[in-house]
Amino acid sequence: MSITYLLGPVEPVELDTFLEPMISELLRLHDEVPTYDAYRHENFLLRNHLVLVTGDSPAIAKILHLTGHNGYSPCRFCIIKGTPFQKKYKVKDVERLKMTYYYLFTPPTDIPPSYRISDVHDVYDPLHLLCCTNTGFINDTTKAEEDDSGQVAKETGIKRGSILFRIPSIRFPYSFPIDVMHLIYLGLTRDLVALLNDSYFSGASASRDTSQPYCIQEKV
Ligand SMILES: [Zn+2]
Repeated sequence: MSITYLLGPVEPVELDTFLEPMISELLRLHDEVPTYDAYRHENFLLRNHLVLVTGDSPAIAKILHLTGHNGYSPCRFCIIKGTPFQKKYKVKDVERLKMTYYYLFTPPTDIPPSYRISDVHDVYDPLHLLCCTNTGFINDTTKAEEDDSGQVAKETGIKRGSILFRIPSIRFPYSFPIDVMHLIYLGLTRDLVALLNDSYFSGASASRDTSQPYCIQEKV
């Protein structure tokens, strides 16, 4: 059984209040509910366990009260931190600088001085990344809720506890997989099609050997 929540036209201020009725019902169903099977003409005990919750990154950040995929601690699967840098943007033709993060295993050393914020960056071994665990997530949630400065939220990526963790069958991060639409269809597939139809690389520096058999000439 899959349940879908589509809220709109603007995002809710407090999503947990919308989820509360569903959580209450799921908790009842977790224990067991006497139910009648009309096909077999018999009573049975119905149990229902919520195991997977998915959505795009902003939706998962909202439902889990995370700082999100643009934050200093962006990932719900591994413990990787962002490298801060300044980015230019314009407001009414006035150029400004905004601090943001990007995420690399080994940050480059040649960031231009005007964009650089710090010279100290973590380096990660992609084959030995520290993974997030359910126990670590619960402990960090408690710490974040006790901290008013926001520092724990920045470090851990967790702002406060989610109502979903009232359900015993929920396990972090395995209950929150990456959604197939963004991972495959809008991610890998889009890039792959662009590579095949020769539109992935653009600009004067793009030199592609379009005589190769894998290169589709017409846009698909
Ligand atoms: Zn990660």
